[in-house]
Amino acid sequence: MSFFPIFLKTKGQTALVVGAGEIALRKIRLLKNAGFRIKVVALDIDPAIPELLNEHDEVHNRAVIQNDTQGVQLVIAATENMDVNKDIYSWATDLNIPVNVVDQPELCTYITPAIVDRSPLVIAISSGGESPVLARQMRAKLEAFIPAGYGLLAGLLSQFRQKVKKTFPSIQTRRLFWEDVLESPVTEACLHGQDALAEKLLEEQIDAHSKEAHKPKGEVYVVGAGPGDPDLLTFRALRLMQKADVVLYDRLVSPALLELCRRDAERLYVGKARAHHAVPQDQINAKLVELAKQGKKVCRLKGGDPFIFGRGGEEIAELMAADIPFQVVPAVTAAAGCAAYAGIPLTHRDYAQSVSFVTGHLSEKSLPVEWARYVKPFHTLVIYMGKPKLRYTLESLVSAGMSPDMPIALVSKGTMPDQKVLEATVSTMADMVENTELEAPTLVIIGEVVKLRSSLNWFKKDEN
Ligand code: SAH
Repeated sequence: MSFFPIFLKTKGQTALVVGAGEIALRKIRLLKNAGFRIKVVALDIDPAIPELLNEHDEVHNRAVIQNDTQGVQLVIAATENMDVNKDIYSWATDLNIPVNVVDQPELCTYITPAIVDRSPLVIAISSGGESPVLARQMRAKLEAFIPAGYGLLAGLLSQFRQKVKKTFPSIQTRRLFWEDVLESPVTEACLHGQDALAEKLLEEQIDAHSKEAHKPKGEVYVVGAGPGDPDLLTFRALRLMQKADVVLYDRLVSPALLELCRRDAERLYVGKARAHHAVPQDQINAKLVELAKQGKKVCRLKGGDPFIFGRGGEEIAELMAADIPFQVVPAVTAAAGCAAYAGIPLTHRDYAQSVSFVTGHLSEKSLPVEWARYVKPFHTLVIYMGKPKLRYTLESLVSAGMSPDMPIALVSKGTMPDQKVLEATVSTMADMVENTELEAPTLVIIGEVVKLRSSLNWFKKDEN
């Protein structure tokens, strides 16, 4: 390591920036955001610079002099004049003030890292000046991986620091307490932007810990796992899958997706077993509540999106009633995934201006689908769970006025490596399906847009 990372105090400190071009502007923006008072000295001043500053800062439109380094705590030189840069370096080092001459490592006593700012949490990344591009790439990765809510979390922890110190005088107890907090629903509430809830939960946790009757509080994550390709997971889905102690999953969740859950997590299958008995929904709801009450972090992993034919609404209603903290993670729904991987845009300027998602499988309580409502020009109809009643559905559509020649596609195991797509017309598809072995799940797409597949099929080009 040739540079030692430290964080400099900024409050009440002045940074001198010599030069006021584009690079200086970027540096000034950083220093100002960090909280420094700024002193700029330059011959030419970019008009954007004074706009960044306020009455506490200073701008001098002239050549820099030795005296400028008096009373400042940090120096950045961004001038193109080599002699001036050297002067600044020697004036600053004489006074033991950290100095950085942009792009001239031999004239630097410090270097500036790439920053991921989740204030008060700040991550600084450096390649020791060897490869700034690599450091910036690493920053981009961390930016994507660390939710913006970490700032809120760090702020909340700092807000409660004194109170926790008073409540738990021993360092050891305090450490355990904070570790517990970071593993608790407080963290999820913050990452989710629910600051008032996070504060309330943290208060409760202080109370519970101080009474020593405390038991970790469980929570539930209702997570959409997408249509099958693990690459289509969201960052949040993956994070929560790796955090949960127990995972409840059903038939639509592929083994490749389950692989991504925490290795030692308990896995409970709640879909249809070989005997075709699915665990009834009310038992799943009750199980979620029971596990969370035991203090577990429970991931309810569902195919596609939880709120599209996923009964996610029923599950969270039960959690709300039982006052269990939870969150819902949206995902790529089968219609979006299958359409994209089959090369069928669901809408298209020339062929479809609207799209409907309809279920072919109704609960006993619902009215039969009024298929006539979906027979209209420039429209795409996507039917979930449509295979068992396909013949009846297609006949109903034709009786309601749909052309028997309307193109239709049936996508089996959409987005997965063994995806299969059948293409036909609404009058021929039912026969074709009866004569073809198709694995569940399958999705039906009806509309002129299906024709586009002949030119847009990109995913499995060799498929006919
Ligand atoms: N919540 C899910 C849908 C659950 S209903 C979502 O948003 O996608 C189950 C139906 O979804 C299946 O019967 C099938 O019609 C469809 N489906 C889900 N995943 C699919 C896939 N990978 N390929 C084809 N159809 C799929």
